[in-house]
Amino acid sequence: MNSGDSSWHTRRLAFGNSPGIFLGVVTDLAEVFRLGTAKVEENLAFRRYLSAQHYADKPFQILASEVQQHVDCTSCANCCRHSVVSLNKSEIEHIAGYIGTTPEAVTRLYTVPDPDAPALRILRNSEEGCVFLDGNLCTIYEVRPKTCRDFPHVAIGTHSLGGRQSSLARWAALCPIIFNALESYKHLTGYHAHSVLSATPLVGDQPPHSS
Ligand code: SF4
Ligand code: SF4
Repeated sequence: MNSGDSSWHTRRLAFGNSPGIFLGVVTDLAEVFRLGTAKVEENLAFRRYLSAQHYADKPFQILASEVQQHVDCTSCANCCRHSVVSLNKSEIEHIAGYIGTTPEAVTRLYTVPDPDAPALRILRNSEEGCVFLDGNLCTIYEVRPKTCRDFPHVAIGTHSLGGRQSSLARWAALCPIIFNALESYKHLTGYHAHSVLSATPLVGDQPPHSS
């Protein structure tokens, strides 16, 4: 996207002047799952639309950071239940120091080989999620790996769209930040007006349920 595009500025200004823009943020996890699952194809089509129109990542990232202020991650923790978290030697050492054990013990007790690269390690998961998850809280929060710190990978300056859009489409059913940021970005780009692919009712046409 060309952020100097006047239509972008017009829409951004309209958004910026609307104090109610995020009042409809969907935070109910069941609703995010229902809507996000129903919109997987729409979100993949949105990726193609963004790519065809040469939209940049930055406006999406700004929206995501604004949405983030309306989402309480401690009421969710879906990323800790569904992510594959790789970690390096230094991160294993930090965890070991934090919990008062050795890196070897952390490696043995809390990690498994990465199935895609057996020389590397990923955090062990159970059906409840990450081995370090307690309820909705991370027990090693201060020393959590970079993969965890960076999630949902929408920080300004990162490449959050493009090749990651298929992953974003999947995560839109699990992460309220991604779901709402995508919906807001559709509004901002005028995507709903262009969309002919989705038979699913669009959030822009029907204000989402708020919790
Ligand atoms: S899935 Fe998204 S909203 Fe949920 S805890 Fe992770 S970053 Fe926060
Ligand atoms: S280390 Fe902590 S933040 Fe990372 S997935 Fe596990 S519980 Fe979540």
